[in-house]
Amino acid sequence: MLQNQYDIVIVGAGPAGLIAAIESCKSSKKILILEKMHTPALKLKISGKGRCNITNDAGLGDFISHFGKNGRFLKFAFANFFNTDLIKYFEKLGVQFKLERGGRYFQENDDAGDIAKALLNKVKSLNIPISTNSEVISITKLPDNNFVIAVNKKNLAGNKNAQCIRIRADKVVLATGGKSYSRTGSTGAGFRLASQLGHTITPLFPSLVPIETKGSTAKKLQGLSLKNVKAQVWCKNKKVDERFGEMLFTDFGLSGPIILSLSKTVVKLIDNKEKVFISIDLKPALTHKMIDQRIIREITEHSKQGFKNLLKKLLPGKLVSVFIEKFKIPEEKQLSHINSEERKKLRMLLKEFQFEVTGYRSFNNAIVTSGGICIKEINPQTMESKLVKGLYFAGEIIDIDADTGGFNLQAAFSTGWIAGRKKAISFCKLVDKQ
Ligand SMILES: Cc1cc2nc3c(=O)[nH]c(=O)nc-3n(C[C@H](O)[C@H](O)[C@H](O)COP(=O)(O)OP(=O)(O)OC[C@H]3O[C@@H](n4cnc5c(N)ncnc54)[C@H](O)[C@@H]3O)c2cc1C
Repeated sequence: MLQNQYDIVIVGAGPAGLIAAIESCKSSKKILILEKMHTPALKLKISGKGRCNITNDAGLGDFISHFGKNGRFLKFAFANFFNTDLIKYFEKLGVQFKLERGGRYFQENDDAGDIAKALLNKVKSLNIPISTNSEVISITKLPDNNFVIAVNKKNLAGNKNAQCIRIRADKVVLATGGKSYSRTGSTGAGFRLASQLGHTITPLFPSLVPIETKGSTAKKLQGLSLKNVKAQVWCKNKKVDERFGEMLFTDFGLSGPIILSLSKTVVKLIDNKEKVFISIDLKPALTHKMIDQRIIREITEHSKQGFKNLLKKLLPGKLVSVFIEKFKIPEEKQLSHINSEERKKLRMLLKEFQFEVTGYRSFNNAIVTSGGICIKEINPQTMESKLVKGLYFAGEIIDIDADTGGFNLQAAFSTGWIAGRKKAISFCKLVDKQ
């Protein structure tokens, strides 16, 4: 049964909202979490393909660089609650982690559900109520500094308009996430709520999103995952971004970690109506000269073999047929008949396997939202709004987003931790007064 008045109301039971609630409990007793979905933490449970890449072991400077220019906003939060703190936090809650390639921490048994369960058990043990099926539709600030929160409370049959409740609170934490994967509950509603309270929302883009490419080449390679390749973004004959690592071909284009990380650059260029290409270096460890020497060696040593045999030695199976098609060279053509022009063409294709970008997938396929509450309007030391006293932000709703690798969840937990911590808040009030 919901009451009329709370000290703190937290909107959104994702990682940011849940940790904010747990930490708020140290200073306040009357806390309520409002969650619009029937179950809390839906996105956390599917994170990292259900394995949850919770954080990264990168050092502070490197970690922050993964957020681009807005990363500096997180300096204070990370200085107070960083990767090792997060790991220890969950270890105390009974969750263990393992470190994988790229410094990525995953839950020990590859079960993101265990992380959500640990948070929810902690919330329960602190007697913090979570009201699910409760969608916040408006937040108003009264002259007496109280907030009035209007909530659409669905009944068990899921009737959205069953009941509209009004709750008062001294403080509100908006932790409603971004706009991606709306089926997990984050539909971007929090941006509207913040905007009604006077906040600026910087333009919203899907980020860490798969890229659509021209032609049928990607479709033919669908399902092929490549490791240790370099992907570059090209626009107006200039290289504008690049990443090294793992990628994936899909029925519509390109995906996988390095493509998702490059997507932020691509999305902005495409929205500016630029012509964009992604060039894949399939042999980044070899120079053009080294590749040519390797091809010449193969030709000399196996001169009677067919062209296809050479490709098989250089490429995974699926790529062989695509390369043969691109060359328009009969696959049985003897290596001794391959001329220098054809050698050059092969070398170029290995180093610059190009795809023209035609677009990108929607918010529903994006791992995170780029853009959000303008960081200039939030105190980075408390996560409190600089415009509305008593209003706090945590997690992806803020205009911060990073590469894949556990950076986004760390940001959600660190900002939630700071927003919830009375200690940090009072410390900063002291600092502010000085
Ligand atoms: C498929 C996928 C995989 C991912 N994997 C990783 C990973 O491995 N590592 C990583 O670092 N990041 C990952 N991310 C990103 C990460 O999950 C998010 O950045 C993180 O969950 C953001 O946390 P949050 O608490 O801010 O928001 P969310 O997790 O989105 O939670 C917001 C909550 O607010 C609720 N809500 C929204 N509006 C309202 C309203 N009006 N009233 C009441 N409640 C509301 C929503 O229902 C939701 O429960 C992944 C994302 C996706 C989509």
